Amino acid sequence: MTPEEFREYGKRVVDWIADYLASIESRPVRSQAKPGDVRSALPERPPEEGEPFEHVLADLDRAILPGVTHWQHPSFFAYFPANASGPAILGDLLSSGLGVQGMVWATSPACTELESLVVDWLAELLGLPQGFRTDSAGGGVIQDTASSASLVALLAALRRAGGEGRRRTVYVSSQTHSSLEKAGRIAGLAAGDVRAVNVDEHTLAMDPAHLDELIAADVADGAVPALVCATIGTTSTTAIDPVRRIGEVCRARGVWLHVDAAYAGVSAICPELRWINDGVAEYADSYVTNPHKWLLTNFDCSVLWLADRAPMIEALSILPEYLRNAASASGEVIDYRDWQIPLGRRFRALKLWSVIRWYGAEGLREHVHKGIALADEFAALVAADERFELRQDHPFGLVCFRPRWPGLSTADANAATLALLERLNDSGDLYLSHTKANGNVLLRMAIGAPATEREHVLAAWSAIRRELG
Ligand code: PLP
Repeated sequence: MTPEEFREYGKRVVDWIADYLASIESRPVRSQAKPGDVRSALPERPPEEGEPFEHVLADLDRAILPGVTHWQHPSFFAYFPANASGPAILGDLLSSGLGVQGMVWATSPACTELESLVVDWLAELLGLPQGFRTDSAGGGVIQDTASSASLVALLAALRRAGGEGRRRTVYVSSQTHSSLEKAGRIAGLAAGDVRAVNVDEHTLAMDPAHLDELIAADVADGAVPALVCATIGTTSTTAIDPVRRIGEVCRARGVWLHVDAAYAGVSAICPELRWINDGVAEYADSYVTNPHKWLLTNFDCSVLWLADRAPMIEALSILPEYLRNAASASGEVIDYRDWQIPLGRRFRALKLWSVIRWYGAEGLREHVHKGIALADEFAALVAADERFELRQDHPFGLVCFRPRWPGLSTADANAATLALLERLNDSGDLYLSHTKANGNVLLRMAIGAPATEREHVLAAWSAIRRELG
């Protein structure tokens, strides 16, 4: 493709995206494709000769779009949001245009230096501790996902804990994201050595006293406790673990505290929500949050901060001859290849930088505020309808609730809730997801897509009530 051809098709692609986003509301939120539909609509064999780009765009409309679930649809309320925004898309395009591979500082200094600047900016915007800044012993790095970030944290924690050849243990709760169990498996821990700490029956927050007991018992048994993961905003119901009290246990026992704030962490951009990070400054060894969920930055962009980068670098740095260079040897630069699992890395900082510059702190705060205000309004509607039961704690954009189904057993009520959810999602008008807490299936209404307005939330509530009959 020549630069002139690129210019022409590039404009058409940008127009296509703008038209897509402008008309997204006319599409069913959840794809109505059946398994195999997309593949069977496309040629089984690759083309022998190149094709005009128009063919790609035509197939995008004909074969791909029907198989797309529209995460940017204003009535997408499932899972957690995966925000996209104009500046993030353009930042990503610039990153692709530059085609930079930023594995070490020397392979493109701007890729590293913009990244360390922008993660410092984000730390400041979220009120995170000075010790996470890249000019301290710690620092921040952009990862593809929180799952990768937590794996990196675990590898650093295992390095710091030592005890190779002995049983090493990790502590999570039933509410911790499954990526921690996966990280344990990847790191070679036995399944039983990712230990489940009890949670409070009502709040679903981790019980620090039980954590302390488990660690003490494991130490008495000869194990080496390596990492505790506290979650701020669990995936299921956005429960908040008591980070400070968990941190006190970790400090007393010499265990690494990792804080998973993948979804909720970015909400600390609003000063009145900074309380969620109570204890982080004093106790957290690592902290992850995903701008790619709720901070208007296209997937993938997950930021991991560490209070001390040394154990991570010791765990992950291998220096083959072909990567040796004067800048790395000087010790004056960051080589982010040592802060992640893969060697290669994209210039992801460009999109986060574009987002922060376009919206400013004020615009980002407004976005988070809006999601929370709409969630509060939705929760009030649920609370006011006696046919529904609301889960009380909803500090962020997620509201969990269920129909009461009087007279039905728990099993039948759960089946009825799931059937209701399927009918709603099949309608194409909205998309919710579900979870289970204390044996009950709950509907999850996660508000925070950039296009969601009050009218969409009210329409969703009407649809839910209508479907209940
Ligand atoms: N941690 C929490 C609390 C989450 O809610 C999620 C995803 O929803 C993750 C981790 C995993 O995020 P990622 O997809 O970035 O790995």
